Amino acid sequence: MEKDPSQNRNGKDPSGGKKPKNNMLVALVITVVVVLLISSLYNTISKSRYQEADYNDFLEAKENGQLAEVEIQSDRLIYMTKEEAEKPAGQQKAFFTGLPQGGDTMALAAELAAQGVVVNRLIVEDNSAIMMLLSYALMLGAVFLLMNMLTRRLGDGAMGGFGKSTAKVYMEKQTGVTFKDVAGQDEAKESLQEIIDFLHDPGKYTEIGAKLPKGALLVGSPGTGKTLLAKAVAGEANVPFFSMSGSDFVEMFVGMGASRVRDLFKEAAKVAPCIIFIDEIDAVGRSRDNRMGSNTEQEQTLNQLLNEIDGFESTKGIVCLAATNRPEILDKALLRPGRFDRRIIVDRPNLQGRLDTLKVHTRKIKLSDDVDLKKLAQATAGAVGADLANLVNEAALRAVRKGRKMVNQEDLLVSFETVIAGTEKKNTVLTDTEKRLVAYHEVGHALVAALEKHAQPVSKITIVPHTSGALGYTMQMPEEEKYLHTNQELVTELKMLVGGRAAEQIVFGVQTTGAANDIQRATALARNMIAQYGMSEALGLMAPATVAHQYLDGQAYMDCSQETSATVDRAIRELLDRVYAQTKELLTKNRSLLDEISEYLLAKETITGDELMAYVNAADRPALEEGVQEEG
Ligand code: ADP
Repeated sequence: MEKDPSQNRNGKDPSGGKKPKNNMLVALVITVVVVLLISSLYNTISKSRYQEADYNDFLEAKENGQLAEVEIQSDRLIYMTKEEAEKPAGQQKAFFTGLPQGGDTMALAAELAAQGVVVNRLIVEDNSAIMMLLSYALMLGAVFLLMNMLTRRLGDGAMGGFGKSTAKVYMEKQTGVTFKDVAGQDEAKESLQEIIDFLHDPGKYTEIGAKLPKGALLVGSPGTGKTLLAKAVAGEANVPFFSMSGSDFVEMFVGMGASRVRDLFKEAAKVAPCIIFIDEIDAVGRSRDNRMGSNTEQEQTLNQLLNEIDGFESTKGIVCLAATNRPEILDKALLRPGRFDRRIIVDRPNLQGRLDTLKVHTRKIKLSDDVDLKKLAQATAGAVGADLANLVNEAALRAVRKGRKMVNQEDLLVSFETVIAGTEKKNTVLTDTEKRLVAYHEVGHALVAALEKHAQPVSKITIVPHTSGALGYTMQMPEEEKYLHTNQELVTELKMLVGGRAAEQIVFGVQTTGAANDIQRATALARNMIAQYGMSEALGLMAPATVAHQYLDGQAYMDCSQETSATVDRAIRELLDRVYAQTKELLTKNRSLLDEISEYLLAKETITGDELMAYVNAADRPALEEGVQEEG
């Protein structure tokens, strides 16, 4: 999610800007100055009691038998003359002098003792003990002051100048975003409409005693437009919009997050009706019981958040919206009725949704006549709103780079490829053999797709290396949006994936590293078919894998015995082996076609799906007919 830094210009920053940081600095400076003053004072006092003298003075006093007491330290001597020793306590003065390097202190001590001098028991009675105590007390005072400032700051955000939190609370008086700016997402908009009505006219609801939900949870994959929707709700209702990210709450110091939550709701209450939007709420709202150890800061922040939500009267017109892509890890307390009890799913857009999103984002962009947004929407299955916004922007940038005044279809298609494969890498030099291998590999994929009944049509094949590391790729364009996939389609997909490796093996008798990604994807797909979709004989309808983060990567984890796990692995191996054998057979039967298209691709580097199909359709049909395999 992108945060717009210009937001601050629209509204004020209720956190109080940089003040708290400055206050901390002042407190630190004061403490350092006080400590320095005390230590210099202490030094002066102690120096006045011990006066520096020459070593010769000491020797003279020793010769004249004037010494009363001497203390021999590692690097210096402290001594008191008989004259000083006779003075009343408090007025006595001792002298110190350096000890000559290599001096025999043992001999000196023995000599002095023989003279009747008291060695190593020098006590200068004075008031320095009291002074020392005093300075310790002052020092303690300074430390206490600092601690006090810190705890006040942590404990209660509202107290004093030091208490204001530094959290980045964004308030926008008017978001300027409406539902018109959010393409698709009709179900989500419908659910949010009620909240907008309520914010417009709370009286209508309170009159008959209806209570509106205090919060709603927007759930969906990253980039599907959750923040945009929340802003649009504020825009439609024409109320201020407060936004903060869950991770902003969680700080190093315990209590800081809680103080920020308090601040946020306090500021919001001042300008109610308004919307409070908490992005990535899972950062604070993570379940408190499923982790090793405990995180006091996170728990305190969560408790404070629950308190605040319970605390405000919904009639005031504060509505709390939160966004997450991991609803399954949220604390149950957060989801109970009266809190974030409404769950609004913000889905990945379907074909129509993608088309609408592209229309929204190309509104302000000059498009040339050849632009076909529908085709682009078809090609971008699985893309979310943020991807599409990015794609359109990339296309506009490309048009500028090329010195054009309008964006054309090519710009859009190329930027789509840029988004999925990175930009073309101009200076990767492949040897001729490598180039041949890559060409056959890609045609292997494409030919399987062209020959198989259930495959999606190929739109482009290229052997131009890309910055993502791909040495070439085959792009498919689905004809229509698919929500369900049959097992035949999935097997065809597997064949497509292993087609590259099969071609390498048939033509060159080698296996290259270029197939690594294909093999990983094929293995993952085969695993899903067996462990999730119940499509194998080995496991039947048993599904040992569970999807962990539906809205993120959708990765599954295995929850089964080791034995089942081993069975799954064996079944994956069998399925892949079978599919690979069939693919090899298919390509071997169509070897001449494989050679012809590969040579053509080598010559042209990039060919379209139509060119591929022209070759396939012009070829001898018998081989083609036999090639179509049905998977039972
Ligand atoms: P999320 O909060 O779900 O991660 P955002 O709301 O921050 O996603 O979306 C990021 C950007 O993607 C938006 O600023 C907008 O440009 C674009 N976007 C996402 N969904 C849509 C949509 N449905 N319609 C129009 N633009 C969208």
